[in-house]
Amino acid sequence: MGVWQREIKILLLWLLVISILGVITGLFLPLLFLLTLGLLIRQVIQVTRFESWVSMGGKSRYPKTKGIWEEIYYHVYRIKKNEKRRKKKLSKIIDQFRQSTEALPDAAVVLGANDEIEWANKAAREVLGLQQSDKGQRIPNLIRFPEFIRYLRVGDYNESVTLPSPVNNRIILSVRIIAYGPGLRLLLAQDVTQLKKMERMRKDFVANVSHELRTPLTVLKGYLETLSDMDNGDSPLLTGSVQQMQGQTERMQHLVDDLLLLTHLETNQRKSECVDVPALLSQICNEGDVLQHVYKGRIQLTLEIDSHIFGEAHELRSAFTNLLGNALKYSPDNSVVKVRWYRSESSILLEVEDQGEGIGPADIPRVTERFYRVEVKRSKKVMGTGLGLAIVKHVLMRHDAVLNISSELGKGSCFRCCFPLSRQCG
Ligand code: ADP
Repeated sequence: MGVWQREIKILLLWLLVISILGVITGLFLPLLFLLTLGLLIRQVIQVTRFESWVSMGGKSRYPKTKGIWEEIYYHVYRIKKNEKRRKKKLSKIIDQFRQSTEALPDAAVVLGANDEIEWANKAAREVLGLQQSDKGQRIPNLIRFPEFIRYLRVGDYNESVTLPSPVNNRIILSVRIIAYGPGLRLLLAQDVTQLKKMERMRKDFVANVSHELRTPLTVLKGYLETLSDMDNGDSPLLTGSVQQMQGQTERMQHLVDDLLLLTHLETNQRKSECVDVPALLSQICNEGDVLQHVYKGRIQLTLEIDSHIFGEAHELRSAFTNLLGNALKYSPDNSVVKVRWYRSESSILLEVEDQGEGIGPADIPRVTERFYRVEVKRSKKVMGTGLGLAIVKHVLMRHDAVLNISSELGKGSCFRCCFPLSRQCG
């Protein structure tokens, strides 16, 4: 039987008793009043007991009672017990999480909405020099590198920022912030000293080798020119060999030049100025540039805007020449290559469009990698180093610009350099 049914049954029983007694004594109404009063007092006592039990936290076993009140006590007691179990489980998980993050080799700091430190692990105390007492302090007051403060302020956390450790400037840290909840962020700092060291060694090695190859190459080219001048055509073998060697030294010269340019882009500070891009494009496309000489009449230049770009003219020239060179190289000799300088709502763009062989979807993301060349059976032999688009990507990165490539095999390609409007200077 349900509790409510039992309660109602008891109430009805009381009413029956009162009615019988009322009929016998003729005092039905006073007896009914007494019954109601008794029931009310009982409920008030129960509510008071319940209130004092709940206000004590409802932790102890509930007082002995009967009927609906026992049911209420039991439900509240069960909810409290479950909650306690859940809390215990949760705090165990939190403890485990804290222990594991404490043992992490990377520094981890939890930041609040106002950049204040809420929690930091052992590695953070070691490499970032944070103390236990720094809890609640704003992190930009403790790590004062301008690039870090800018990173924190701008709030674009897709990239990481590289800084020296505030406690030992020989340790290089890659710092990244991850937003994970309303106003909450996790700062992770990884020691990348070895990685940076190796990267530097690689750059130095490539730069040194490229530089050292220049002199022997010049000597070789010189002798090959002399040999070519001396060749009177008597020996087809000699003529062919000299031509082959000249072609290969030319290719090597391009490789060395491209490698040196890439090293320069990776290491050197640029000297920015306001670059007259329309004039630069006209020069590359029309005014007797090397490209024009070979590919006469194929380039269609449209200058829709006169915008100048704040940047490095020499670097931009290299990037644009590479894009144009590729468009001409990888398309039929009689096809048109369209070059367009224009503006959209959010960018200033250079577009180089060809009707050439195109690039497959799987190759598009890879063509800007160093030395990546798409393997295609072509009717004509196309010379290249595989470094051109890597140079373009680097140059654009140094100008806060991005390269968009859209292409369809057999139809053609479109390379778009998108400069932010903030780069416009004239
Ligand atoms: P490469 O010296 O080989 O031209 P790049 O880095 O400039 O080196 O280009 C990488 C590869 O991307 C090229 O080998 C070519 O396969 C492909 N590629 C570049 N531009 C084009 C284009 N306009 N049309 C088709 N394929 C292209």
